[in-house]
Amino acid sequence: MPHQALQEIVCCLGQPVAGNPTQYMMEKAFVAAGLDWRYLTLEVPADKLTDAVRGLRAMGFRGANFTIPHKVAVIPLLDSLSPAAELMGAVNCVKRDGAKLLGENTDGKGFVQSLRSLLDPSGKRIAILGSGGAARAIAVELGLSGAAEIVIVNRTVGRGQDLVSLLNDKVKVNSRLVHWKGDFEVPAEIDVLINATSIGLGDAQAQVPVDVATLRNELVVADVIFNPPRTKLIRDAEGRGCRTLDGLGMLVNQAVIGFKIWTGVDPDPEVMRDALEEFLNI
Ligand code: NDP
Repeated sequence: MPHQALQEIVCCLGQPVAGNPTQYMMEKAFVAAGLDWRYLTLEVPADKLTDAVRGLRAMGFRGANFTIPHKVAVIPLLDSLSPAAELMGAVNCVKRDGAKLLGENTDGKGFVQSLRSLLDPSGKRIAILGSGGAARAIAVELGLSGAAEIVIVNRTVGRGQDLVSLLNDKVKVNSRLVHWKGDFEVPAEIDVLINATSIGLGDAQAQVPVDVATLRNELVVADVIFNPPRTKLIRDAEGRGCRTLDGLGMLVNQAVIGFKIWTGVDPDPEVMRDALEEFLNI
């Protein structure tokens, strides 16, 4: 069909971005919603980020996702930040509003939306493995959602302590650090255990150092790893009778939130999850 009007463009900027599934998922959802929008995946090295953002402004892109290595570096190039993005110090989603670029972070919101399908995080005690970008985004959103306590379990003390201080001082949620050495024994009062490390990425046999005998059947166990989605941790947790959440839910939900931020329209999450599973061949 010939196009009468210009299409709207959004994009993902990162390096490396080959194999990123978001374009496939977004474009299926645009079609399903009857929107004449396009999503481009663009390889942009760190030293070209400023030019790339100037380009987005010049070409009137409606928005963008930013991924590794740009989530922090993009902040000074934007006009404003959402409160959550400001607290996290990281942006993964930008919306253009007139001439202004507004920074948001949808990673943690996507996780919390996915978790809500199993339980309300308000009043819950939560242990998070890892202190990188994903852990930070998830921890801040869980704190803002009313979690009673967030235990950060990290191998590197300095990075873990930075996140604990952010949670206690800025997000105002009770938080403490466990220095991760050997297998983590999940304390009996914990309601939700989240693997937010990169252990398991591309390796279904990779073992997250957790004492499997401490996975009680009342626990919810979540993993941010989406490829492969049935990680060893998820399989071990299921074997212990826990309710589980794989990383696909977080990925789909953060895309659902980004789609709404850009277009103002609610996409069909089923279309997105199906597209993701088709893309990842699972
Ligand atoms: P970062 O590199 O920022 O952080 C990685 C974290 O994992 C660090 O805390 C690091 O600990 C820890 N870690 C890595 N290897 C080990 C190990 N062998 N033992 C103990 N700790 C380890 O990565 P991100 O936070 O950005 O991403 C983490 C994962 O989350 C990635 O695999 C990514 O694909 C996934 N992700 C999934 C999303 C989804 O939608 N499902 C969204 C965003 C990310 P230390 O501080 O000690 O180095």
